[in-house]
Amino acid sequence: MSFRGSCLCGGIRYEVDGFLGNAVNCHCSMCRKATGAAFRTRVAVTTAAFRWTAGEELLSRYESSPGETRSFCRVCGATLPTFFRDHPEQLGLPLGTLDDDPGVRAVAHVFVGSKAPWFEITDSLPQLAEVKLK
Ligand SMILES: [Zn+2]
Ligand SMILES: [Zn+2]
Repeated sequence: MSFRGSCLCGGIRYEVDGFLGNAVNCHCSMCRKATGAAFRTRVAVTTAAFRWTAGEELLSRYESSPGETRSFCRVCGATLPTFFRDHPEQLGLPLGTLDDDPGVRAVAHVFVGSKAPWFEITDSLPQLAEVKLK
């Protein structure tokens, strides 16, 4: 089964064939800045299972920390996958740009030490200080 996603303006579209695990809500300061939201929900994807179907030329990239490059639409600013220099076989997909229900659900809050003071976690999911890539 594959899932479709797109940016806000619709110029960039992608498909992904599946996910490596469960999604997490990342509260790190970089995800907050990149999304403008309290957290970024993401899931690990096998690079081979991911493909751009339109608008790849509209992508901009920003290396937010060494070896970790975030991508976004240069027209609308939508947050798109993060690429890892040391783990090129995986990428981090923000679920907010999906158009289909991916089936997976967020199973934890991560980097809660960086959580925004104005956001209160009110669910019962585990709250972790850090998280491994996968
Ligand atoms: Zn766009
Ligand atoms: Zn983060």
